[in-house]
Amino acid sequence: MCKPDPELKGIRGGNCNRTACQQPNAIWYNKGSFAWYCRNCAITIQRSANDYGIQCQEPPMILFENIFEPTDPRHEIYRRNR
Ligand SMILES: [Zn+2]
Repeated sequence: MCKPDPELKGIRGGNCNRTACQQPNAIWYNKGSFAWYCRNCAITIQRSANDYGIQCQEPPMILFENIFEPTDPRHEIYRRNR
């Protein structure tokens, strides 16, 4: 695999902000880290935030708006590109 362009990391529509990932189509904005992520990482990160909320009996932090909302058109884009 080619080395990802560091200029594209974490920017809107660029590459995922997670260093180990850096897949293209970073279209999910993380309100906690102010960077953009791919769908898979957004789901993983939001899931752990939700788990933390349950474990610590706190309201879950919403990092990615609509990530678990199947009608969000961004899920559709992902399905088309697969
Ligand atoms: Zn990612």
